[in-house]
Amino acid sequence: MRASSLAFRPVVEIDLDAAVKNYRFIAETAGAAETAAVVKCNAYGLGAAALGSALAGAGCRSFFVAYPDEGAALRPLLGDAEIYVFNGPDEGDIDVFVESQLIPVLNTHDQAALWARRGRGAAALHIDTGINRLGAPESELDAIAALKLDLRVVMSHLSCSSDPGDPENARQWARFSAAAGRFPEARTSLSASAGALLGPDYRFDMVRVGAAIYGVSPFDRPDARLAPVARLTAPVAQLRDVAAGEGVGYNHRAILTRPSRLATLFLGYGDGLHRAAFGRGQVFLGGALCPMIGRVSMDLIVIDVTDAGPVAIGDRAEIFGAKLPIEDAAATMGTLGYELLTSLGPRVARRYLRNGEDVTAPTKIDGAVL
Ligand SMILES: *Cc1c(COP(=O)(O)O)cnc(C)c1O
Repeated sequence: MRASSLAFRPVVEIDLDAAVKNYRFIAETAGAAETAAVVKCNAYGLGAAALGSALAGAGCRSFFVAYPDEGAALRPLLGDAEIYVFNGPDEGDIDVFVESQLIPVLNTHDQAALWARRGRGAAALHIDTGINRLGAPESELDAIAALKLDLRVVMSHLSCSSDPGDPENARQWARFSAAAGRFPEARTSLSASAGALLGPDYRFDMVRVGAAIYGVSPFDRPDARLAPVARLTAPVAQLRDVAAGEGVGYNHRAILTRPSRLATLFLGYGDGLHRAAFGRGQVFLGGALCPMIGRVSMDLIVIDVTDAGPVAIGDRAEIFGAKLPIEDAAATMGTLGYELLTSLGPRVARRYLRNGEDVTAPTKIDGAVL
């Protein structure tokens, strides 16, 4: 890595060893159930190629994406691993499934009938047991069973598993157990990260885990069992001392109530930092939590470092990472760790770490090789 070329850009460091460690933790917890890795949405913004390869190297044999093109891009990297596509096929993309040996998750009778007509081979079936979002309603199951598809996995998705005490979990468990019993040849899968941690009853034959692998607790507060994977930092571009009574940023939505030392960071909503962080976001810099001050701009934010230790141009503020857990950072900004990761824009350089070493493949940004 040529450090100078990234010195004044936002960077997300991705610790591949930590992701593997989290995968192994879930796999051990899951016992006899298989742990599949969910790498949709570019592995929650962190890079499906790098994460997929690292997890395949750690023994993961089943992967889930949302769209077939995501699966096709991963196929050459994942050997003969199973790649499931949550959103299923449509007339226009069904050939991609066949060419890249992707396993569609069939969510409706229409998709199942399409796969019976035009598809080939293995499929999964998603039954909606109460989230009322995606998946075949129970009323379609007879017609789907009559198609006699090669169903490898029957799955459902919990709506309330981030709250382990919610009685809806047990209700969906019972509906899923009954519905899955109609497809005895298929393996069963009910849980994502939260369900995988709910207890043995929720694991069935396979858990589908995304967030926990990426170091984000599905229970929305830091969990010492999960290693932090992603660390977002942004450099200090400029420092200034400003008098009380001055305004900061667009529309002067912040007025200083005391003489303040302000630091401007190269990071803005154009990089995925939510503009809704206005008035409540924080970053870690100079040994202290520093409040964001004024509106988030496209490329910049201003933070108040008056109460922090010494801060210099080029120092990197942590937006989330080991110092500021992503669940806490997200809660402060009124969102979830999931969304902080998937919001990271293409301008944020991804740097991959293994054994603490930068193993990022060279990439080009604006013509410069980084
Ligand atoms: C995204 C998704 C998952 C993974 O959820 P996490 O909470 O990130 O583990 C599992 N199953 C389905 C159907 C999903 O859409």
